[in-house]
Amino acid sequence: MIKKPIYFDHAATTPLCAEALEKMAPYFTEMAGNANSQHIFGRQAMAAVDNARDTIAGIINCKPNELYFTSGGTESDNWALRGAAHALKYKGKHLIISPIEHAAMIATAKALEKEGFEIEFMKVDEEGFVDLDHLKSIVRKDTVFVGCMLANNEVGTVEPVKEIAKIAHEAGALCFTDAVQAAGVLDIDVKDLGVDMMSMSSHKIYGPKGVGALYIKNGVSIESIITGGHQERMRRGGTTNVPGVVGFAEAFRIAAEEREKNAKYVSSLRDRFIDRVIKEVPYVKLNGPADGAKRLPANADFSFKFIEGESILFSLDLAGIAVSSGSACSSGSLEPSHVLLALGVPEGLAHGSIRFSFGKHNTMEEVDYAVEVIKQAVDRLRNMSPLFKAESEVKNV
Ligand SMILES: *Cc1c(COP(=O)(O)O)cnc(C)c1O
Repeated sequence: MIKKPIYFDHAATTPLCAEALEKMAPYFTEMAGNANSQHIFGRQAMAAVDNARDTIAGIINCKPNELYFTSGGTESDNWALRGAAHALKYKGKHLIISPIEHAAMIATAKALEKEGFEIEFMKVDEEGFVDLDHLKSIVRKDTVFVGCMLANNEVGTVEPVKEIAKIAHEAGALCFTDAVQAAGVLDIDVKDLGVDMMSMSSHKIYGPKGVGALYIKNGVSIESIITGGHQERMRRGGTTNVPGVVGFAEAFRIAAEEREKNAKYVSSLRDRFIDRVIKEVPYVKLNGPADGAKRLPANADFSFKFIEGESILFSLDLAGIAVSSGSACSSGSLEPSHVLLALGVPEGLAHGSIRFSFGKHNTMEEVDYAVEVIKQAVDRLRNMSPLFKAESEVKNV
């Protein structure tokens, strides 16, 4: 028997792992000191934060003093882009990002545009890969920032960040990557990637919500966006979320340790799911890379022709399967996803898209059950769709 509901929305968030919860617990109660206090409680809290910083720095291969704790991926993205733009505006005001960045980047870029910065977008192909030749052709003397995510949250494309960093540096610009989705499944060594800044978030890797980090290479100038106390070496004010940071580091430690095993396992679920949907459901389009090695191991994103993504989402929800339509951050809005539009997916198909993102607790049985439910739901919804009727009548003549 399958236990329902089934969770296929790990790109939106993941459940906290038991190990992290256990490590966090005392920092809510008997060791609840403020990490900046100068007594035993403060020292205990600071020691825990230092430990967490060492752990994560070790995993991403940076110095502990190059890692800054934040409230999550959104804040880290905001800080990297806005902070660098403001610090470097004397040098230039040209900023380049990919068109498939998370809303935290896109919205920040729009705000900077209003302040007088010039934002230019990289080009991506129909699978979401950045066009490196195009990037080479748009970097300029006044380009100060080049930002591209390591892996896309919606269609799973893994970007050539190493090459992007080389192009950025040759132009004298900083290179930033959002590694929120890549953490836990890909190797995210900042030295190897060659980036100057990198965002991470805890709740996408089985850690607690509301905590993340920004790697800032020593020597990189970036302005603070949250000013206040002396925390985080005076660069990010606010009382440190000690239990959050402790849980984040423990989750990251486990994610790094289990990385290859988990990536292999979730990609086996994904591959079977993709194979079956393509074979058994007519009129579907897999969005993102066809080559499984170049897409996030846990990601499958499909457009179902003639149907709205939301109606599939509701049908699946009724059958006890939790998925996401478009990107979680834009769900509830009727705008088609900016990611699919950038890939050139026609608007009609973009409206019918659903993201399935698997996790380490999912099973093959759940995958097979989902395929059966999808087949029935899609069939039923299409039979109610006038567009589909018109098309199938044409086919039948
Ligand atoms: C989830 C996500 C974010 C935002 O992280 P939060 O910690 O939820 O603020 C940023 N970038 C990507 C790619 C994400 O998937």
